[in-house]
Amino acid sequence: MSKVIICLHCGNKTKMEEVAKYNKREEYYEMWDETNYRLFLCPVCRNVTLESDSIFSEDISHVAFLEPWEREEEINKATRIEQLYPESLVKGDYIPEKVQKAFEAAVRVKNIDQAICVLSLRRALEIMCKDKNAKGKTLYHKLQDLEKKNILPHIMSDVANFLKDEGNSAAHGDDIEFSIEKVHLLINFTKTILDYVYTLPGQLSDAQTKMGSSDAPEDNEDSNENNKTD
Ligand SMILES: [Zn+2]
Repeated sequence: MSKVIICLHCGNKTKMEEVAKYNKREEYYEMWDETNYRLFLCPVCRNVTLESDSIFSEDISHVAFLEPWEREEEINKATRIEQLYPESLVKGDYIPEKVQKAFEAAVRVKNIDQAICVLSLRRALEIMCKDKNAKGKTLYHKLQDLEKKNILPHIMSDVANFLKDEGNSAAHGDDIEFSIEKVHLLINFTKTILDYVYTLPGQLSDAQTKMGSSDAPEDNEDSNENNKTD
């Protein structure tokens, strides 16, 4: 099997051959959990990318009741694909496309131009601020605004400020070296911030929907009408 993948070693988007595969299946009572680990080889730089795709039987239990042509789409939807090596990109399900694209652009150039990588990370944060309607003239003030609104916790806004400073140095052509270790650190920081702002709330709300209303706090929908403030 081959697949078009963005190689995070050399930054090329290219068709890669699967060179190894390991299947792991766990069963408990009537349920099962299956994961395929696939190793792909980049034809450009000869480095490998490890991906996993997992599926949980309960997530596709409804598929048997569907028409055959609808099944594949549902199975694809329930399959979780993760890039495990060299570095996972942010999970796109909850992150706005523009933010994700800026982040991906940063990761793709990390081995080619570290200053551009850091600039792109900063851009991802700028777009995130805009998406979250952060107020303020500079990125610093926007991040503080997000902290005030409890969208970013204090420690995260410190991390974001650190990223902003690094981004400034990159933008102004300051004579500082961005080592690959530092760049990895900045990529991980940005990823954590995006997870916190988008992925965690998204996953939590999905989990709450899945568990149904039984655990939800009793909320009288009719009262919402009366809760309007001016
Ligand atoms: Zn490559």
